[in-house]
Formats: sequence, structure tokens, C-alpha cells
Amino acid sequence: MIVAERKPMAEIVEMVQDCKKILVLACRGCVTVCSAGGEREAEILSSLIRLGMKKAGKSIEITTGSLVRQCDREYIDEIDQWDGQYDAVVSTACGVGVNFISNLRKDTMVYPALNTTFFGGSAEQGEWTEQCAGCGDCVLHLTGGLCPVARCAKSLMNGPCGGSVDGKCEIHRDVECIWQSIHDRLASFDRSAQMEVIAPIRDWSTAGHGGPRKVVRDDLTV
Ligand code: SF4
Ligand code: SF4
Repeated sequence: MIVAERKPMAEIVEMVQDCKKILVLACRGCVTVCSAGGEREAEILSSLIRLGMKKAGKSIEITTGSLVRQCDREYIDEIDQWDGQYDAVVSTACGVGVNFISNLRKDTMVYPALNTTFFGGSAEQGEWTEQCAGCGDCVLHLTGGLCPVARCAKSLMNGPCGGSVDGKCEIHRDVECIWQSIHDRLASFDRSAQMEVIAPIRDWSTAGHGGPRKVVRDDLTV
């Protein structure tokens, strides 16, 4: 899922300084799962914005709502139910949601309440870690299912770099060296020979280095 966290309140309050009424819009997708931008967090955010504005000597009308997903045009039309109730939207979706509403609602100013952080998962309560960088050319079949792009500090395709100590990365001593883990995992499947195969120079154009990416599925287009 996409993992995100709320921006500092001072930053959010600053965004809406000139607004008289806003719609705080939650997303019931990934950001609900990572407890950053679901309905509960949107209600809390609304209260905090009210308090922040009061502190600044201003008042603001806030409507709080939610969409099933803000990254899907199928659900964006549901915003119409709040027409006239806001002069800006504060979205608690990830950056995709903010972009999507901005793309599809030319007259609606949308402010981001979250910092979108990475694609990851929750291994422990209250803790999320990055697992995939969306590189567009997955190599997990070669690396024991562990991602060197997102999880190696240097995104090495031929690791380890030689700097790891006791299985920890030389860049972050509290983080596993993923290449050590790849080595150990391949060995456990009797596939250590894979470590000897030199990965060729990689074409990073699929990873967004060539501008915004697009996926078109002919079988799904009409
Ligand atoms: S290799 Fe690329 S697509 Fe596969 S998990 Fe890593 S970043 Fe994601
Ligand atoms: S120590 Fe391991 S994870 Fe860290 S940069 Fe080197 S190869 Fe990558």
C-alpha cells in the first residue's frame, strides 16, 4: 500500500488561512490502512484546523467527508454532494488522490494534508517500512523476493557493497543490509549461484527517470 503521514499542523493551517469554508476529504483506501488519512484522521484533522484557525483569530466552516478512493475517477463525482459547501478541499489522501481531484475538478483547489512517503507495509503495530519503489522492471525473481531498489540504501543491483557489518547497512546501522538478506535467503533455497550472476547495466527509464509513466492495457480499453 501507499504509506503516508500527516503534515505538520502549522503547514496545513497556513494553507487554508484565506479560506472561509473547506471540505476535509478522507480516503478510505491505503491511507485508512496506514492510519494517516481515513475518516477518523479526517475528523481529528478538522478539529485541529478549527483550533489552529481560532488561535490565529479566524473562523472557518469545515465539512468532513470521505470517498471510497480518491485515485479513481469512478468515485471522484461523489464530491458533487458537497457542492457549495467549500471553497477549497483539504485532502487526506496520498499525492495521487490530490492530483486526481485536481485533474478532474478544474475549479477546485485541493491542498494536501499528508506527505506521501513510500510503498510499504506494516510489520509491527504503528510501524511501516518501505518495500517497493515502483521501478517498473521488477527483479524480485532474481533476488529471493527482497527488493534491492527500495531496500538497499544505494539501490545496488549487484550487492552487497562491502560496507555492511553484522548484517546491517553501512548507511543506516539500524537497518538490515538487504543484500546480506538476499544472500542468506537465496542460500536457504540452495540458489547461492544466483549471487554470482552479474546484473547488467540497468535501464532506469521504467523507474520514472524519463518523466511521468503510464500503463495502457489494450485488453481493458474501450
Ligand atoms: S524491483 Fe522494482 S518493482 Fe520489484 S519490488 Fe523492487 S522497486 Fe518494486
Ligand atoms: S550495506 Fe547493504 S544495504 Fe547498505 S548500501 Fe551496502 S549493500 Fe546496500
